[in-house]
Amino acid sequence: MKIGVLGGGQLGRMLGLAGIAMGHEFVFYDDGERPCAGPVGEVRPLAELGPLRDLDVLTYEFENVFEAVDRAYRQEVIVAPGRRAIEVSSDRLTEKDYFTSLKIPTARYRPFDNPATFDEAVAQIGYPCVAKTRRFGYDGKGQMVLQGEQDREACLAMAGEKPMVLEAFVPFSREVSLVCTRAANGQKVFYPLVENWHRDGILITTLAPAPGLTPELQEQAEGYVGAIADELAYVGTLAVEFFQIHDELMASEMAPRVHNSGHWTIEGAETSQFENHIRAITGSPLGSTAAIGMSAMFNLIGIQPNPDMILSMPGAHLHWYGKEVREGRKVGHVTVRSDSEADFGRNIAMASAMIAPS
Ligand code: AMP
Repeated sequence: MKIGVLGGGQLGRMLGLAGIAMGHEFVFYDDGERPCAGPVGEVRPLAELGPLRDLDVLTYEFENVFEAVDRAYRQEVIVAPGRRAIEVSSDRLTEKDYFTSLKIPTARYRPFDNPATFDEAVAQIGYPCVAKTRRFGYDGKGQMVLQGEQDREACLAMAGEKPMVLEAFVPFSREVSLVCTRAANGQKVFYPLVENWHRDGILITTLAPAPGLTPELQEQAEGYVGAIADELAYVGTLAVEFFQIHDELMASEMAPRVHNSGHWTIEGAETSQFENHIRAITGSPLGSTAAIGMSAMFNLIGIQPNPDMILSMPGAHLHWYGKEVREGRKVGHVTVRSDSEADFGRNIAMASAMIAPS
């Protein structure tokens, strides 16, 4: 099939790599100068978004493409996942309202867009809290933690005229996420819950499966994510990030696409999140999500380590996105797969020393 992808970043590149193996062709809609996905398909301008007639299906690899998806609908091409998934998730307020409508716990929140509504929101939520821009915020950008009144001015300066949301600070024990793929016929497959480490709001490491994962916690996460996938009649791969507090999960945010915390599945699961996304949107049967041993995924952020040093590590796999290295930019990732707990511990320590930013 000929698959169109809105966006041509690393997620598009990895979707392409998985789909080409199954005989598909790709067109990436991207206005960047040298999109990462360029080597795995044709590139067309996103701004013009045309022509779409020759596509069998259109998908997306980032969520700020609502207008493009809307235009695609008018051209009557099949879009998977559908428009509502983007509508819900591209605004933090509608996303939280959506979690609440499905009875999925989330941090208490209030919108604000000026000093008066900010003060009302603080009166409801209390300190400490986190202020976030409702739209176009990702990787910790457009957000700040407020400890008390002393942070009010800085927060209002950051917010400016933008619509914001204020949420209670969650004293989580750890952050976890669940990746699910749903087919058009309603079949759902779930990967094991994974543990995520962030630095400055950016994902740096994923441990898969999450250490100490219990069947109860997995079931809780599957219940929440399954409810979202079914309600949206979702087709494709979907990720939800959670805060874990003792044995309870609280939804933090969702991504209607393949997700950074699912990159480990390329080597660490029977079928990768990318392959399952392509299978879902092309109407093929979904593949097993079973983990093969244990994996640790390390993002390469603004650094270019010696590839041979990484590849000399047992079980290590390097993914380089072909981007120019810039501070704070995700330029690749490394997955280290292990078969035993002992190897896992040793491999994580070795990889962290080599890769993790100090
Ligand atoms: P987000 O962009 O919403 O994923 O936030 C980025 C990171 O900031 C999260 O992964 C957390 O580490 C932290 N964070 C965000 N919201 C909260 C919160 N309400 N309480 C505590 N930490 C938070």
